[in-house]
Amino acid sequence: MTYRKLIFNTAIASQKPSNKDVCPFCDQTELGKILDTKKDMIWVENKFPVLQDSYQTLIIESSWHDGDISAYDLTVNHQLFTFMFEKWAELEACGKYHSVVLFRNFGPLSGGSLRHPHSQIVGFKDVDAYAALDRRTFDGLEICGESEEEAKISISLYPLQDFTEFNVSISNSKGLNRLADSVQLLSDYVLNDFAQGRCSSYNLFFYRFEEEICCKVVPRFVTSAYGIAYGLHQVNQLKRLEAIRDEVRIKLAKKAKQ
Ligand SMILES: [Zn+2]
Repeated sequence: MTYRKLIFNTAIASQKPSNKDVCPFCDQTELGKILDTKKDMIWVENKFPVLQDSYQTLIIESSWHDGDISAYDLTVNHQLFTFMFEKWAELEACGKYHSVVLFRNFGPLSGGSLRHPHSQIVGFKDVDAYAALDRRTFDGLEICGESEEEAKISISLYPLQDFTEFNVSISNSKGLNRLADSVQLLSDYVLNDFAQGRCSSYNLFFYRFEEEICCKVVPRFVTSAYGIAYGLHQVNQLKRLEAIRDEVRIKLAKKAKQ
């Protein structure tokens, strides 16, 4: 496989605010260039673009500092997904980037530096971010199939990294609200039920395969030595994956009754 890398600028990184500073997304007086707004969502240029040869932007999702996808009102979450996907498509359509990615960090182990809920849309001038994807990681033990009410959900049997990783997919963008609902349910499951509430961090990674849209919901823990050293992935025993599947099914059934 070709070795691909992003060059990181430490001089810019050292100026970045942290959670100890006044929150720049609450304060909003020193945001980067604002690209668009809708309700209280703001699409802005990242003021601290630490990656060379890329265009880094953020969606500040809400004025609620302690908010999260796991906790937004249903309609607010639908609006957020619509806005994120619109802006992702817009950056792709401008034609300046070889590839454009959409993802989201939440919590101290997710790679995010600020608590205030935000998503990232980043364009790479020369790098194809999608060149090394293995389609096997997007399938696995099925929790539910796609229907009028639900997105398809599975637990990866070949996770990108280790342990549990959920795949949520819809066959085309008409199902975006269903995707938003399932991702919301899984984010809540990851933070509050999974690992007895000991998981503080997760990522959302978004992908498109022609019409199909997939979101990976990835609980985050410290990266294992096996993974770094040898590229070996740790996967739970099937009976544990089946127990997780059953817990999520119960949660889905409860939601359907509401
Ligand atoms: Zn804030």
